Amino acid sequence: MVIDEFTREARIAYFSMEIGIKPEMHTYSGGLGILAGDTLKSAADLRIPMIGVTLIHKMGYFKQELDFFGRQIEHPDPWEIEKYLTKLDVVVTVTIENKPVYVTAWLYVIESGTGGKVPVLFLDTDIPENEPEHRTLTHYLYGGDLEYRLKQEIVLGIGGIRILNELGFEIKKYHMNEGHSSFLTLELLQRFKRPIEEVWSDELVWDTEKVKDLCVFTTHTPVAAGHDRFPYEVVQRIMGEIVPLWLLKKLAGDGMLNMTLLGFNLSEFINGVSKKHEEVSEKMFPGYEIHAITNGVHSYTWVSEPFKRLYNKYLPGWANEPEIFVRAWRIPEEELWDAHMQAKKHLIDYVNRLTGANLNYDTFTIGFARRATPYKRADLLISDPHRLAMIAEGRIQIIYAGKAHPRDEGGKKLIQRIFEVKERIKDKVKIVYLPNYDMEMAMKLVAGVDIWLNNPQKPYEASGTSGMKAAHNGVPNLSVLDGWWIEGWIEGYTGWAIGSLEESSDPKRDAEDLYYKLSNEILPLFYENRHIWIKIMKNAIALNAYYFNTHRMVRFYVTEAYIR
Ligand SMILES: *Cc1c(COP(=O)(O)O)cnc(C)c1O
Repeated sequence: MVIDEFTREARIAYFSMEIGIKPEMHTYSGGLGILAGDTLKSAADLRIPMIGVTLIHKMGYFKQELDFFGRQIEHPDPWEIEKYLTKLDVVVTVTIENKPVYVTAWLYVIESGTGGKVPVLFLDTDIPENEPEHRTLTHYLYGGDLEYRLKQEIVLGIGGIRILNELGFEIKKYHMNEGHSSFLTLELLQRFKRPIEEVWSDELVWDTEKVKDLCVFTTHTPVAAGHDRFPYEVVQRIMGEIVPLWLLKKLAGDGMLNMTLLGFNLSEFINGVSKKHEEVSEKMFPGYEIHAITNGVHSYTWVSEPFKRLYNKYLPGWANEPEIFVRAWRIPEEELWDAHMQAKKHLIDYVNRLTGANLNYDTFTIGFARRATPYKRADLLISDPHRLAMIAEGRIQIIYAGKAHPRDEGGKKLIQRIFEVKERIKDKVKIVYLPNYDMEMAMKLVAGVDIWLNNPQKPYEASGTSGMKAAHNGVPNLSVLDGWWIEGWIEGYTGWAIGSLEESSDPKRDAEDLYYKLSNEILPLFYENRHIWIKIMKNAIALNAYYFNTHRMVRFYVTEAYIR
């Protein structure tokens, strides 16, 4: 079978509810999934024996349409599975509501220019053996209700392990990328269960230490409400008693089954995704030792064509050794600016074609694109439209994009508010909101704008990664001091901060600081001191892209978590 070339050596299994590899495969919703894809791409480049496990999400996340008022309309977003994946001849079963659910898998192989390869398994329940209600379990990413989510997590965690086993994989470590896959620990507990006659206590039947030795857990959520939790009666009805309830409660919390706690209690290594997030997580989960491995992005994926040419010329070898970005100052100024203008024109042409907004090549362009949800505060920049218009004087244009989760009413309202203000001040500031943000659009945006704006409410941004993509294209960040930016920020050198390190978020004060820096520091520099501006662009590459990439991150996972 095609999979055989991958079963010869022991691998690290990387489980994630979403893995985003390319725009044509609708298997991701945003940051978490793209991080997973970038991680596996770096593993392939570095020839680290990993294997990805996720669900196939046949109908995608959703396709976003925005009407004239910015109201979000959601459509299913199917994709051409056969074009990209190979169906494997494998079936395992999991038990859901006392019925067998058959799970099969498709294979995608990430192939690196270095010759390294990493297989990714996409689990699928849409096969004739299953009852209709089970066939749709792997259709919608983050769709459906709590029970649908629970069933998906059973397929991912338990089905995933059984598929790996059935295919003959030897697994050295199980890495849970967020709590959606924590049920895999229960399957491992079952597997290592000792016969009752060998032990003297009920508790010793379950070899939690052995499971812990095998597991690594990465948390991404700095808010308690963001962690998946299920009522035990629902769990028992749907899953049955895979391990006894007393044990499950001991591992996953008393009140509700908390997927993060379950993962924490059965992992030898736990980490947050930035230094700050480590601190926040330790406060949220006292008593656990939590490490920090700051996120990155896959450099080769997130560098635009003009910058690839530039780097190939002046920084050969950069793609598999992003540390070489440290020499970015060797790039001649004119050529750097020329590459940026190529990327910018590409973006502006695309936006104008799509929206008829008539943006200009030479106007300072602000980019803001990410999931539309209240804590990300997409409306901070337009919170005082009059002030913004005064500062702009025709010198600012803004490009927005981002989907709101179908049940996130607050996120949907944000989009509508931007549409409202966009109409109101359209003669003074050109603002566009692009529908259906995805990887392809992200690539154009992070490379083609002049500055990348991020102003979440602290401390809710665990890391953030889109700013790292911008830095890879010489685009400086203007951001609140949260997540990765605390580590990447050198004021006036790599970009700018909004607000201070110490103070908590205050929308009024943050908006004030944002407007102040734009009008007094950033706009004058961009328009009147291009020389310094380009130096800042070089710093974004040399001091940010140099570090905030998945090559560095994956190496940390190997030495800190995988081979301890
Ligand atoms: C990178 C990326 C994200 C994540 O951006 P954050 O800044 O981490 O919120 C989300 N969606 C898409 C399409 C991306 O490319």
